[in-house]
Amino acid sequence: MTTVQLGMPTVASDPHGHLRGTESFPKAAHKALADTQLRRNLGHATRTIRAKRAAVVGEVDDWEELRRAGESIKADTMARLPELLVQLEEQVTARGGHVHWARDAEEANRIVVDLVRGTGADEVVKVKSMATQETGLNEALEAAGVAAFETDLAELIVQLSHDRPSHFLVPAIHRNRAEIREIFLREMPGVDPALTDEPRRLAMAARAHLRRKFLTAKVGISGVNFAVAETGTLSVVESEGNGRMCLTLPDTLITVMGVEKVVPTWSDLEVFLQLLPRSSTGERMNPYTSTWTGVTPGDGPQTFHLVLLDNGRSNVLASPDGRQALHCIRCSACLNVCPVYERTGGHAYGSIYPGPIGAVLSPQLTGISGPDDVNASLPYASSLCGACFDACPVRIDIPHLLVQQRAEAVAAHTRPTAQDLTMQAMAIAMTTPARFKFAEKALGLGRVLAGRKGRITGLPWPMSGWTNARDLPAPPQETFRQWWSRTHGDTQRSGAGPSTGEDA
Ligand code: SF4
Repeated sequence: MTTVQLGMPTVASDPHGHLRGTESFPKAAHKALADTQLRRNLGHATRTIRAKRAAVVGEVDDWEELRRAGESIKADTMARLPELLVQLEEQVTARGGHVHWARDAEEANRIVVDLVRGTGADEVVKVKSMATQETGLNEALEAAGVAAFETDLAELIVQLSHDRPSHFLVPAIHRNRAEIREIFLREMPGVDPALTDEPRRLAMAARAHLRRKFLTAKVGISGVNFAVAETGTLSVVESEGNGRMCLTLPDTLITVMGVEKVVPTWSDLEVFLQLLPRSSTGERMNPYTSTWTGVTPGDGPQTFHLVLLDNGRSNVLASPDGRQALHCIRCSACLNVCPVYERTGGHAYGSIYPGPIGAVLSPQLTGISGPDDVNASLPYASSLCGACFDACPVRIDIPHLLVQQRAEAVAAHTRPTAQDLTMQAMAIAMTTPARFKFAEKALGLGRVLAGRKGRITGLPWPMSGWTNARDLPAPPQETFRQWWSRTHGDTQRSGAGPSTGEDA
C-alpha cells in the first residue's frame, strides 16, 4: 500500500547533524570534564554573566510580573500560532516582502540557496541565526558554491576555527583570549602578525576583516528575535552593530525564522524587549535593536524574503506540556545558571541547542528513535535543581519537562534496562513493610562491600550503572527503625512511632 504524507513532517530533518551529536551526553560529558582549560573558560564566563544578570534583574521591581506577562503572551501565541503566522504573512507581503514556508531544514536550505543563486551572488554576510545553524545552511551554501561569512564576533571565531557554537549568546564561550588570538593569526587573511590578545585589538582585527565583506556583499542572511504579526515587522537585537549592517547594506535580505518567534502585537514586543537583554547579556537594554517592515524604496534592501521554518516545531506544539519549549526567547540565562552546563559546556549536548532548554527542545524536535538514540540521553543531563526555571524570563518549567520526558522514555522501553530492573526490584521491596524490613537485612552486606573507605565503588549489573558514575556511601550501622526502637521503644501499637507493620 502506498502512503501519502499530508501536512507537516512529524520531526525535524537534520541534514548536517546539528540537532544530534554522534555520542550520548554521558560519553561526551566525560570527555568535556577532562578538559580543564574548557572548565576554566566556562566557569569564568558563566560566573561573570550570572553576576551581571543578577544585578540588572534586581533593579526591576516588577520583574516577576514581567516574567508572568512573558509567559502568558507566549502561551497565547502558541494557542493561536497558525492564525498569527497567516497574519504575519499577509502583513509582510502587503509591505513588499516575500514569504516562503519551509517544512524542514532541507526545504529551508533549498529555498535560501535558490534565492541566493537568483541574485548571482557567490558571497553572503550573515548575522547570528540559530535557525540557520539548526538547518546547516552554511554547509548547503558551500555545496552550492556560495561562501557565507558570519559577522557576529563570536560566530566568526567559531567559523574561523572550524568549530561548533557552544552557547546561544556567546557561541565561543569555550575559548579564551589567547586561543582567539591564535585562531585569528592562523585563519584571518591579512591580519597583523603583531596582534595581541587584548580584547580591543582582537575586536579591531575582526572589524577590519568584516568591513570589506559588509561593503561588497549583495545578499545578507539573518535570523530574527521577534516578528510582530499585526504589522509584519521583524526585529533583531544585538550588541555589536554587525546585525544593523547586515540588515541594511545588502541589496537582498533573506531572513530565516523559526515559526515560534512570532508575537501578536507591538505591546507584546515591549515585554520581551525588557526581559531579553537583562536575562541574556545582563544589560538594561541591548545596544542595537533593528526593526524593519517589508521594503522601503531607496532605503535598505530592496528585496526581502522571509522563510518560515517548521522543522519539527509542529510536533513540539502538539504536546500540551512540551510546547512550553517553544516559548524560549534564547536568552541563555538557563545555560548560565546550570551546574551541568557550567562543567560540560555546550558541545556535550550534541545539538546546537545546548543546556537545559536544549535538553528538552532537541529531543522533541528530532523525535526519539529508541533508547540508543543519542538525544534520548539529554533529558538526563540535569540535576533537577530548578535553577533554570528560576532564571527563565518566560517561566518555562524545564525541570517538569525533563521529568516528563524521562517518564516517556521509560514508558517507551520495549525491553527493560538496568535502571528499570533496579526500580522494579525497589518497588517490590518497598510495597510492604515486611518486605522492606527483609531488604534492610542486605544493608550489612553493603557495609562489607564499602570496607574501610566507607563507600562502595563498584557493584555488579544492574547496579553497576550507578557505581560507574558515582560512589555509594556505606549504609549506616543502624537503620531508622532500629534507632527508633532503641530510643523510643516499641511504640507502634500506640500509633506514636513508625509502624514496622509486618502484619500490614
Ligand atoms: S529556556 Fe528560558 S532561560 Fe533558557 S534560553 Fe530559553 S528563555 Fe532563556
